[in-house]
Amino acid sequence: MGIAENISRLRIKIPEHVTLVAVSKTMPVALIQEAYDAGHRVFGENRVQEMIEKRDHLPQDVEWHLIGHLQTNKVKYIAPFVSLIHSVDSLKLLSEINREAARANRKIDCLLQLRIAREESKFGLQFEDAIQILNAAEYKNFQHIRLTGVMGMATFTDDEQQIRAEFQMLARHFEELKARYFPGDGAFRELSMGMSDDYELAMDTGSTMVRIGTLIFGERNYKREN
Ligand SMILES: *Cc1c(COP(=O)(O)O)cnc(C)c1O
Repeated sequence: MGIAENISRLRIKIPEHVTLVAVSKTMPVALIQEAYDAGHRVFGENRVQEMIEKRDHLPQDVEWHLIGHLQTNKVKYIAPFVSLIHSVDSLKLLSEINREAARANRKIDCLLQLRIAREESKFGLQFEDAIQILNAAEYKNFQHIRLTGVMGMATFTDDEQQIRAEFQMLARHFEELKARYFPGDGAFRELSMGMSDDYELAMDTGSTMVRIGTLIFGERNYKREN
């Protein structure tokens, strides 16, 4: 099966209002080009270096999403072009994105990454940390970022009940942040959750953005990093 077929098979299951982010990490440019030629434009990478190298070899209208952990000292490399950063996990990082976006004369869309998995994971904010960021005086002065929602990853497990419960928790957190901090703000609308193994569950629980690698490009030699 080719990449074009994989994407059209997914497209049948994913409604129009849900954005499909094709996760191309570790995949060569030729395969990304194949997806592009099939009409796909939104790609997710988890490493800055890999993203900027691939970008040089692909059409300019690709929308690049950063889905992996972002170090503050690397923000400057992607600020000129990145279309969405899914993995904001500190006020310090948000501040740096704001600074580099200003230098690049842009406003960058960002998601707060919330920690929902029961398993030990290094990245992601507790809900209370997200509240703290949104209450911070510094945050209110950021003119060059726009928070458009939240992202989360469920525990890597076969237990569907657990995954569902974690997605439901993320959806509740999203609704609560929206009600408290973004009332009437149509821009705060993205709930980025769901990967190859759990995207249908995620859509059942309100996902607006699924990040899918394996089902499009085939197996990688590693599954995920967190
Ligand atoms: C790798 C990765 C994905 C995609 O995983 P698949 O199981 O291949 O679909 C989605 N989100 C994040 C944050 C990832 O790192």
